[in-house]
Amino acid sequence: MGKITGFLEYERETEPYAPVEDRIKEYKEFTVPLSEEKLKNQGARCMDCGIPFCHSGCPLGNLIPDFNDAVYKGKWQKASEILHATNNFPEFTGRLCPAPCEEACVLGINEDPVTIENIEKNIAERAFENGWIQPNPPKERTGKTVAVIGSGPAGLAAAQQLNRAGHLVTVFERDEKPGGLLRYGIPDFKMEKHVIDRRLAVMEEEGIVFTTNTSIGKDIAAEKLKADFDAVVLCTGATVRRKLPIKGSDLKGVVQAMDFLPQNNRRVDGCTEFDEEILASDKNVIVIGGGDTGSDCIGTSIRQKAKSVTNFEIMGKASTERPENQPWPYWPMRLRTSSSHQEGVDRHWSISTKEFVGDKDGNLKGLITTEVEWVKENGKFTLKEVPGTEKQWDCELALLALGFTGSEPVLAEQLGIQLDERTNMKASENNYATNVKGVFAAGDSRRGQSLIVWAISEGRQAAYYVDEYLMGSSNLPLKGEGDLPRI
Ligand SMILES: Cc1cc2nc3c(=O)[nH]c(=O)nc-3n(C[C@H](O)[C@H](O)[C@H](O)COP(=O)(O)OP(=O)(O)OC[C@H]3O[C@@H](n4cnc5c(N)ncnc54)[C@H](O)[C@@H]3O)c2cc1C
Repeated sequence: MGKITGFLEYERETEPYAPVEDRIKEYKEFTVPLSEEKLKNQGARCMDCGIPFCHSGCPLGNLIPDFNDAVYKGKWQKASEILHATNNFPEFTGRLCPAPCEEACVLGINEDPVTIENIEKNIAERAFENGWIQPNPPKERTGKTVAVIGSGPAGLAAAQQLNRAGHLVTVFERDEKPGGLLRYGIPDFKMEKHVIDRRLAVMEEEGIVFTTNTSIGKDIAAEKLKADFDAVVLCTGATVRRKLPIKGSDLKGVVQAMDFLPQNNRRVDGCTEFDEEILASDKNVIVIGGGDTGSDCIGTSIRQKAKSVTNFEIMGKASTERPENQPWPYWPMRLRTSSSHQEGVDRHWSISTKEFVGDKDGNLKGLITTEVEWVKENGKFTLKEVPGTEKQWDCELALLALGFTGSEPVLAEQLGIQLDERTNMKASENNYATNVKGVFAAGDSRRGQSLIVWAISEGRQAAYYVDEYLMGSSNLPLKGEGDLPRI
């Protein structure tokens, strides 16, 4: 441990944001970097606890006190090696992770936790700036071939690990560019897409083949792929969107968030031709759903110069404090305010949308809501409308950000894969294998809609079991077993 009194001397400090009026003029990232000295001080706040609960808070088992210490000592290259030992893509998690590690930080019991996520991002950025991230192809090839279907964080992590083990890996992606939700869900203001491209360039140099614009199950039959490769890893995400089947949901202007956000990301990437443009400009926008997707719709609508942006969440307003029944070091359900929320949205909780209202031409012009409350009946919470709270809102664009119900059925049907009760690919956490020999599943397609850090973790874990299936044993690391260099 570097500085024994660090946590007493320095306050928590994270990268500030550019002022709202500047950042909403464009889609670029808007964090303002901290000086090197400030970052080292943040690393010095880590107490190197006897039992670092942050390790177990992190789905990757990142070796957090070790890289914090290296940062404090200015040993950035070592910090990068430690970080990359357990995390293939810290530049993604360092920008986008909700940081369960920080909720589990021991300092967080009675002080502000260490700024683990921000330190992670800065380590990754220095590593790229200084050329420390170099292609590292395997010394020998095994002659085995693996098809990874889907190029989100799970697929990318699985591909990189399996390539490191010496297998020839092809990643199949139906979109025009790899990245999954990193590229087509998450807006550029949260992560600019060159961050994905520079990592893909390294992976290509390592020998991984990316075959885009290819939908497996449609362009290539899943059975053929299975016959052509020694193993198949399904990393196809949980892409079936939850609907809101109420009166008026077919009106023009009621739009799924995952039609709106990918279109805008493509627009930012230079695409100009769309079958039908979906724009928030000059409209009263209501975003239904209070999660990450809803928040991204808010930031995007504001940048598109919506007339107003309102957000509904069906759950009650959580406290900013950790709830008593979710004590440290668990992940607490508390009120989270994202950078997009700070940009000018009217947020409402305990609201249920009852009906969309249209004009005579079938265009959305408003919606009707009621307030709701969760009432405990026979030991179970049920949602009840509060009488007399019906309200009509002006709205020309309603964005449905209601989450995802599971994975698309096509590959499961073609390959005969069993699904679980939530319509995800059924594969045990013990080996990521489906009921079909040689076919594995990881990421959102297996665990349901989740987080980037979980997708990377699942891709890494699945790679171990695929390698073991192909070779009889594996030298790839399992969770938290990075090949840790000593400092
Ligand atoms: C709008 C939005 C914002 C989010 N923000 C955050 C955030 O800030 N932080 C965070 O941690 N998590 C966030 N998440 C969740 C996170 O993005 C996902 O948990 C993560 O991307 C899942 O990774 P994955 O690789 O399993 O699947 P995905 O990223 O969904 O990738 C699946 C890929 O498979 C491809 N595919 C599917 N079927 C086929 C087929 N038949 N043939 C070929 N390719 C196919 C898809 O095109 C896609 O590219 C967000 C999610 C959304 C929707």
